[in-house]
Amino acid sequence: MTQLHVIGGGLAGTEAAWQTAQRGIPTTLYEMRPQRTTPAHQTNRLAELVCSNSLGSNLPDRASGMLKVELRRMGSLLMRAADAAAVPAGGALAVDREAFADFIETALAQHPLITLRREEVTRIPQEPTIIASGPLTSEALAQELEALLGQEALYFYDALAPLVNAESLNMEIAFRASRYDRGEQPDGDYINCPLDKAEYLRF
Ligand SMILES: Cc1cc2nc3c(=O)[nH]c(=O)nc-3n(C[C@H](O)[C@H](O)[C@H](O)COP(=O)(O)OP(=O)(O)OC[C@H]3O[C@@H](n4cnc5c(N)ncnc54)[C@H](O)[C@@H]3O)c2cc1C
Repeated sequence: MTQLHVIGGGLAGTEAAWQTAQRGIPTTLYEMRPQRTTPAHQTNRLAELVCSNSLGSNLPDRASGMLKVELRRMGSLLMRAADAAAVPAGGALAVDREAFADFIETALAQHPLITLRREEVTRIPQEPTIIASGPLTSEALAQELEALLGQEALYFYDALAPLVNAESLNMEIAFRASRYDRGEQPDGDYINCPLDKAEYLRF
């Protein structure tokens, strides 16, 4: 293969570009932000975590922890980034989202076989292509996919967890505690915010 295109510089696309380039295939990675953004992304970063900063269990005897072990063995860039950017979260692997994106952007920028193009792809290239444009694929590309797949529409439903600045918390009400008591930090890895029903619904 002489050239591969990867559409979308999110979690899937950055890993895909890394893996193909590591196998000696010149790879062009397309990311539409900042030219065009999505309703959920907040930054122009590659591999932006749009929601929770937890990647789930890091324990090797859990299904998602076992997947992480396998990903590490397969040379996953995202796992290296996650391990380097990890923050305390009990048995889960949670990351500092900026350090995580930094790590991935730096690794991709330094790879001699990866070219990053900041542009929206509206037509699927004729050459081999990985489409990794995620649940918030741009309208034009979604229409292109609809035409190709013969589906009336592509659907994605989810809820968006709000991001809260630590500085905005009143620590006389909020408190630190462990989630599962598995030998995390003595004062607890998580900040817990008690809310009554009305406060919760407002939040
Ligand atoms: C509101 C919301 C909440 C979510 N909450 C969670 C959660 O808590 N936990 C969880 O695991 N997952 C959550 N998800 C799912 C989350 O999106 C995925 O886990 C993860 O981001 C998927 O990675 P991805 O690489 O497939 O897509 P993304 O990370 O979205 O990356 C796709 C990239 O493609 C780019 N792109 C799109 N169209 C084009 C185009 N035409 N040309 C070029 N670039 C394009 C986008 O800008 C984006 O950077 C949530 C999603 C949404 C929308």
